[in-house]
Amino acid sequence: MPKRECLTCRHLHDGPGSRCPTCTTTRERARLRPTTTQRGYGAAWQRLSAQVIAWFGRCVDCGHQGSEDNPLTADHIVPKSRGGTDAWDNLIALCRNCNSTKGTSLPEPHPDPQNSHTGMG
Ligand SMILES: [Zn+2]
Ligand SMILES: [Zn+2]
Repeated sequence: MPKRECLTCRHLHDGPGSRCPTCTTTRERARLRPTTTQRGYGAAWQRLSAQVIAWFGRCVDCGHQGSEDNPLTADHIVPKSRGGTDAWDNLIALCRNCNSTKGTSLPEPHPDPQNSHTGMG
């Protein structure tokens, strides 16, 4: 079976594409990675979130003060998708851990049987 020359690194490979598997993966990853601008968070938000994080100084949920693998992030109390604004009274600081577990619409993956009271709002 004839090998093909990768268009990127020129190494011979026998994969189906015109690039070797390594270069294909690298290109896919670069393409799929969303930029902050694409997600609707531009330079203004970057600046604002930095101010919010500095003002709170810690996660309002667990009190974590931010670390390299769990940095603080600014978050909307009312999500912008539900009409929330960038006003200061709608912004809090959460560590990334709390922010990612908060989830606005995802179902609970592990319902806790010990905490099964049904609140109607
Ligand atoms: Zn390659
Ligand atoms: Zn936290």
